[in-house]
Amino acid sequence: MHEWALAEAVVAKAAEVARARDLARVVEVVVGLGELQDVDREALAFGLAAAQRSVPGLEEARFAFEVEQARCSCRPCGHAWALRESLDALPEEDRESIHLLPEVVHLYVACPSCGSPDFAIVGGRGVSLLAVDG
Ligand SMILES: [Zn+2]
Repeated sequence: MHEWALAEAVVAKAAEVARARDLARVVEVVVGLGELQDVDREALAFGLAAAQRSVPGLEEARFAFEVEQARCSCRPCGHAWALRESLDALPEEDRESIHLLPEVVHLYVACPSCGSPDFAIVGGRGVSLLAVDG
C-alpha cells in the first residue's frame, strides 16, 4: 500500500465532498479502512497531516479511522456471516497468513452453515470516506 498516495486521494475526495456540500471548513473526516486492507495507519495519518495543509478548508480537519468489517456470503446456501467470526476461530498463524494475503482466505475459511469454501467476501477492502463533517 502506498499510504502517501492514499492520503492525497482521501484529502482530495474530502475536499470535493466539502465543496459539494458548501462546507467552508471541515472539522472531522471519518475514513473507513477495510479490515483486509493492509494499510499502515500511522503512515496514513502522517500522510493525511501533510496533505491537508495545502487544501483550503481542510487544514484543521481531524481524521478518524473506522475499521470496516468484511462479511461473507455463501454461494451454495446463501448463509451470510462476519469474516471476523471465522478468523477468531483460527490459529494465530493462519490469521496472519490471511492478513498478509487475503486471497488465501478460502483455504482457511468455510461456510459455518454448509461447510463450502465457495463464498464471496463483501466489504472489508479498500479505503472509504465515511463522513465529512463541518
Ligand atoms: Zn453455505
